Amino acid sequence: MKIAVIGAGISGLATAHFLKKGGAEITVLEKNAVPGGTIGSKVVGGYLVENGPNSTSETNFVIDELLSDLSMKEEKVYADESSKYRFILREGKLHSLPSGPGSFISTKLWTGGAKLRLFAEPFVGRAEHEESIADFVARRLGREFLDYAINPFVAGVYAGNPSDLSVRAAFPKLYALEEKYGGLLKGTIKGARERKKRGTKAKASAKLFAFRSGMGILPDTITRELGASVRFGAAVESVNKERAGFVVNFSADGKHESENYDGIVLSTPAYAAAAIIKSWLPELSSELLKIKYPPVAVAVLGYKREQVKIDLKGFGFLVPEVEKRNILGTIWSSSIFPNRAPEGYVELTTFIGGSRQPKLAALSTDEIAGIAHEENANLMKIEGRPTFQAVSKWERAIPQYNIGHLSILDAVRHVESLNAGFYICCNYKDGISVADCIANGKKTAESILQGVM
Ligand SMILES: Cc1cc2nc3c(=O)[nH]c(=O)nc-3n(C[C@H](O)[C@H](O)[C@H](O)COP(=O)(O)OP(=O)(O)OC[C@H]3O[C@@H](n4cnc5c(N)ncnc54)[C@H](O)[C@@H]3O)c2cc1C
Repeated sequence: MKIAVIGAGISGLATAHFLKKGGAEITVLEKNAVPGGTIGSKVVGGYLVENGPNSTSETNFVIDELLSDLSMKEEKVYADESSKYRFILREGKLHSLPSGPGSFISTKLWTGGAKLRLFAEPFVGRAEHEESIADFVARRLGREFLDYAINPFVAGVYAGNPSDLSVRAAFPKLYALEEKYGGLLKGTIKGARERKKRGTKAKASAKLFAFRSGMGILPDTITRELGASVRFGAAVESVNKERAGFVVNFSADGKHESENYDGIVLSTPAYAAAAIIKSWLPELSSELLKIKYPPVAVAVLGYKREQVKIDLKGFGFLVPEVEKRNILGTIWSSSIFPNRAPEGYVELTTFIGGSRQPKLAALSTDEIAGIAHEENANLMKIEGRPTFQAVSKWERAIPQYNIGHLSILDAVRHVESLNAGFYICCNYKDGISVADCIANGKKTAESILQGVM
């Protein structure tokens, strides 16, 4: 069986890896000259710069299987213990997120009224229609928790707008607490009891990890293992169904080529997939075009340790929209993982733009670095200018699981069920994290192998 995987991001590469492991003959077609899609690391001036993801959570066992297949478990590095301290900005000050009942009572991140409001949560009824995460949280926990917990959290994960994101599609576990147990508090208590009985762990307790030489080593190593099966500079233009399988049209080295395959895995972003299937599946193509990808800019700044006057003990901080700042948040990269900055220096990674301020992500690299520096300097008491800067710009960064997303995914599954051998595996389908993409790659490979081998 000949399978084409289109796109060499982590979703496509993980799928290709598990397909090859299962004995399938695969070709990966990637339009760029390098693998990884949104994942990419480089070392500049002694700083390890991540263009996209900085780390991911160990939420499933597939990650370890993949790393041991690739003999790269030694490369894995867990986040420093101090990264459990996470901060949220309120009225110009960074407040640590509470870690227990004592710090919850004493924190100034939320007012006494907002804390008291939580006692009403178990008595709030279920939603009667698909809700945004903003409506869900305002209804269950009150406005202040939306503004000073969920809004910055959503900016940190999706770079998205809480009023647009569907709670059911984007935060299925949170939604399930209400759906299954009737409330967040009840669900948390009962869920913990059930997990204890089963001997499993909550996703929130999954450990954060990266790689010593950066996230980019993962796609690089999978690509090396796949060898000549990966074709770079191969931009797929269309996929069509033929009686005996599929035909893929692509351009490589300035030439048009056509190749027949028994199976297809489409692992490109939704807008690219929409163009590829437009002539064969026009209705699904229009559905995929509904998925929005706001722009994000990533500014990596370096400073001498003594320039930063606060203690950088923690993961970093997130910025609520109501604080009216020009950044979404900053990760204290060199506090979390080793090798991020030269000795005596620190590395900060700041995110700008998203659905909140898309125009800022389109500014010049110097303007973006300037905004990141000014905001960080003000909030973290930094003296002087950065000694290092690197900016990555993502015009279309992260797919938004907005209200209506689940019906787009129903359309995807319907088309997959009607066309044996055709699969979609990318971050707009079953989770955006690198860890989710790896798990979904294995799931996709297993479905193909069960169906065709
Ligand atoms: C700034 C940023 C920060 C992030 N931070 C984190 C984080 O800290 N932790 C975490 O877990 N996740 C994070 N994510 C999310 C995570 O990185 C992505 O969801 C994940 O890497 C997506 O992988 P993918 O393979 O599904 O898609 P992509 O990485 O988008 O890969 C798609 C591939 O398809 C290729 N392609 C497109 N069109 C064609 C075509 N016509 N022909 C052939 N190939 C084509 C592209 O070139 C690309 O290589 C972040 C994302 C961004 C943008």
